[in-house]
Amino acid sequence: MTTPNPAPVNFLRHQIEADLANQRYAGKLWADAPAGAARLAAEGQPDPARIRTRFPPEPNGYLHIGHAKSICLNFGLARDYGGICHLRFDDTNPEKEEQEYVDAILDLVQWLGFDWHANGVDHCYFASDYFDFMYECAEALVEAGHAYVDELSADDMRALRGTLTEPGTDSPWRSRPAAESLARLREMRAGQHPNGSMALRARVDMRSPNINMRDPVIYRIRHAEHHRTGNNWPIYPMYTYAHPIEDALEGITHSVCTLEFEDQRPFYDWVLARLVELGKLSEPLPHQYEFARMNLEYIVTSKRKLLQLVQEGHVDGWDDPRMPTLAGLRRRGYTPASIRLLCDRTGVSKSDSRLDYALLEQALRDDLDPIAPRRVAVLDPVKLIITNWPEGHEELCQAPLNPHNAEAGQREFPLTRELYIERDDFREEPPKKYFRLFPGNLVRLKYGYVVRCTGCVKNDAGEVIEVHAEYLPDTRSGTPGADSVKVKGNITWVSAGHAVAAEIRLYDRLFSEPHPDGGGRDFIAALNPESLRIVRGWIEPGVEMKPGTTWQFERLGYFAADAKLSSAGAPVINRVTTLRDSWGKAG
Ligand code: ATP
Ligand code: MG
Repeated sequence: MTTPNPAPVNFLRHQIEADLANQRYAGKLWADAPAGAARLAAEGQPDPARIRTRFPPEPNGYLHIGHAKSICLNFGLARDYGGICHLRFDDTNPEKEEQEYVDAILDLVQWLGFDWHANGVDHCYFASDYFDFMYECAEALVEAGHAYVDELSADDMRALRGTLTEPGTDSPWRSRPAAESLARLREMRAGQHPNGSMALRARVDMRSPNINMRDPVIYRIRHAEHHRTGNNWPIYPMYTYAHPIEDALEGITHSVCTLEFEDQRPFYDWVLARLVELGKLSEPLPHQYEFARMNLEYIVTSKRKLLQLVQEGHVDGWDDPRMPTLAGLRRRGYTPASIRLLCDRTGVSKSDSRLDYALLEQALRDDLDPIAPRRVAVLDPVKLIITNWPEGHEELCQAPLNPHNAEAGQREFPLTRELYIERDDFREEPPKKYFRLFPGNLVRLKYGYVVRCTGCVKNDAGEVIEVHAEYLPDTRSGTPGADSVKVKGNITWVSAGHAVAAEIRLYDRLFSEPHPDGGGRDFIAALNPESLRIVRGWIEPGVEMKPGTTWQFERLGYFAADAKLSSAGAPVINRVTTLRDSWGKAG
């Protein structure tokens, strides 16, 4: 896999380079699979990976462009520093998680060009596989006095937690004997208590200025079926407890997450330090680093909001080509390389911001301009009749498949008496600086002849239904006479008798406002009513309408066959993006 840009510089790379120089992880062990201290001590070998990172999605929705940032970052760091990146499903929330999402995530991480196999080892993991270990650690924490079962209601717990300016107050259950907490924990685990009736809390510091350190809940009761562990567990670990353990078991060195977890880092370190003391985990320990989420203007990326778009029918599923999901971008015709390019170009920041949406489109153009096959299409057709062209006469015209790459070769399509051209390429009364067809004007039919426009035919409603022109023999492109007549306009066309009819979907931004959900607004109200326009167009003959290929339709933009809607003989083509950024500008 290659990216045209040099490796970006950022604070994470500096950190890793310093850690490698200081041999911070030099003595690290690996036991062929995620392992706690006991197994590492028994079976551990020097870790073949110089660093380990992970991409830890929760399988509660489809991946979106923001996740692509995290994927490119974590897999990219591992690739560049002799490390390994794990794919880990953070499946600790039974109610919202599903196998469907797991499958889609596997598919799209691969599509994006990354692989969690290294040296023949499959590094795809599930947090739920660590439930036994996590529970064992919880009992050890209770026995050591680092955790207790609290029987306050959630409301009372909240009331005692304090605020940003006031310290919290100890729960009356905080000082109960460890043996009593342990007995309760075991009853919780055995399913003897209803949801919400009690919870296991870490005993840290109710007076900490950091609210996250005020005895956070680490296990809650949830009588819920899990997509992998079924009904084995009536209790589930909280993210803030589970995540550091997942990282440590997998030997992660650099645990990269987004900024909202910054205040959780002290608890992350607290959990790991206690479990080292208790002999459950061994050093060197993972360290958490935070960076700013990648946000783009004109989209939303919260999975909850994306789900709402799907459930309320504002879009046609998770893979609707207007969705900022990777499934949607793929169906639209975005290439994996263009998304990687966007992620590389936008760097790693410590402060939140929204990127210009045009950066995504520009990344696609930059990826595809040198490689995309060129084709001709007409999206808003009107007939052009070459009145002095003999009926039935055909001449094959040659055009490069890609003008930047002579080796790609040529394509051929016939020029005939009746053509389709874009309606906008003819004006009865041309505005200033209009160089295309109008009565009396000379224009080149690209790859063909120069023609002189002679007029048009209209219907009763006054609409132009045919444009007429005469061709100038001896002016054919590629022949010595081609330069004998100078023209200022060059228009694309397809033969009416040969072109292939297609439904063409002209997509625009899903939202008409740059910050659709800014300030807690109702983002549904910001939906762009014109985000999809469907036209019937004509495409140059001989194009294989294979989904997965993105073409440049000359003068029009980048287009791809829709894998879901196309069927044999009835192609549906998506416009990925226009050739230039004209959004919000007139014309
Ligand atoms: P959402 O708010 O959409 O549910 P999430 O962060 O809860 O997002 P996860 O499945 O937990 O979704 O995310 C997996 C990984 O992707 C996490 O490490 C998370 O930090 C990262 N990630 C999610 N969104 C972005 C984003 N916009 N930019 C960069 N990284 C992101
Ligand atoms: Mg999350």
